[in-house]
Amino acid sequence: MISIDSALCRGCGLCVKTCAQQALFLENKKAFCKDSCTLCGICVDACPFHALSLPQKTAKEDLSAYCGIWVVAQCDQGRLLPVTLELLGKARQLADQKQVPLSAVLLSNQAETLARELIFSGADQVLLLSHSSLAAEDEELTFRLLAEEIERRKPEIVLFGATAFGRSVAPRLAARLRTGLTADCTQLEIDKEQGLLLQTRPAFGGNLMATIATPYARPQMATVRAGIFPTPKRDTSRTGTQVLLPFPTKKKPGLHVLETQIQAENSSLPSAQLLVVAGKGIGTKKNMKLVHRFAQLVGAQVGVSRPLVEAGWSDYRYQIGQTGVTVHPKILLSLGVSGAIQHLAGISGAETIIAVNTDPHAPIFQVADYKVQADCIATLESLIQRYESQK
Ligand SMILES: Cc1cc2nc3c(=O)[nH]c(=O)nc-3n(C[C@H](O)[C@H](O)[C@H](O)COP(=O)(O)OP(=O)(O)OC[C@H]3O[C@@H](n4cnc5c(N)ncnc54)[C@H](O)[C@@H]3O)c2cc1C
Repeated sequence: MISIDSALCRGCGLCVKTCAQQALFLENKKAFCKDSCTLCGICVDACPFHALSLPQKTAKEDLSAYCGIWVVAQCDQGRLLPVTLELLGKARQLADQKQVPLSAVLLSNQAETLARELIFSGADQVLLLSHSSLAAEDEELTFRLLAEEIERRKPEIVLFGATAFGRSVAPRLAARLRTGLTADCTQLEIDKEQGLLLQTRPAFGGNLMATIATPYARPQMATVRAGIFPTPKRDTSRTGTQVLLPFPTKKKPGLHVLETQIQAENSSLPSAQLLVVAGKGIGTKKNMKLVHRFAQLVGAQVGVSRPLVEAGWSDYRYQIGQTGVTVHPKILLSLGVSGAIQHLAGISGAETIIAVNTDPHAPIFQVADYKVQADCIATLESLIQRYESQK
């Protein structure tokens, strides 16, 4: 609850007016606060007499005991997921900046082979649990193991890939450890003054980027989607240590996996070099055929903006943007896409963007290298004609 210094309060009522929760009230010309206060702090700024203040937050334990960065590795059919390597590359930079060791945690029935790969990609140490009976993604076991090891070894930062697995384990872990978790970060940095992990992610429907820190609890935890950070160069001269972890203490599992269904193949858009992206401006579902025809002629892959997925013109796997895939093509041809911030979040890694749009003020033109103010279907048709005549 907000603190009110009654000696300073003049009973002006400004704080009462600003409180969206209606948690403040006046009695005998003094402000009082109810339990419904959410500590948003708006009233603190509104009070001209500095009578209101937020309670001082203090850490519940000695945070200086926490040191090092962990990346929770993930593999599929004996191969490390690209997001694990991307995270290691970024975490290496953060660890160098903080001058702390970087560890990868790996649970696998082939852990020893993969551990070397993790070291080649930047890990100083691999904490591994290797057992022939281990399933590739045993969430319950990973959760128990990580909870015990984090409590024992106290890493300062723990990073997960924002995969279905990471999205399932990381929040449970954060709740168990009573710490914060920022999901789907698009940037990770170290704050120069306090050395905190600054976790940036889209907020308020993607309309602004929020930078979140976890100053009063440890570890600082974040998930990052695939394709956000570049894959680090594999350096086979790197050396590191491997530490075998004990099996977590036996507890009755809270979660039983009854059945696993293999999902249809994931989109290969993140690694595409040439990309044609269709937006609502293509007009009709039928025009998707033209988009695919042109993509086929130039050897490109096809991505779409969200409205096309919502309209059933394309599959979600091909959606590009904040809630879809992040891409890094050499050339991206954008057809009838307005360039909403949520879409741009997925294409900022493109080397060259060519945008075709009828609206000269379309936001896509602000990020495009080549701006074509034209009808995208007419443009497509003439491109197809030209390429076909060259065959
Ligand atoms: C939480 C959240 C997450 C989201 N995530 C995503 C996401 O991951 N990916 C995504 O794409 N969107 C996402 N969106 C939706 C996003 O805000 C936009 O609504 C969407 O990107 C718009 O798609 P669009 O540009 O294809 O369509 P529109 O906004 O309808 O734009 C169509 C464009 O085509 C142009 N045009 C029209 N006719 C022609 C023509 N004949 N030739 C050339 N140009 C023409 C118009 O000038 C216009 O610029 C998200 C929204 C929210 C709130």
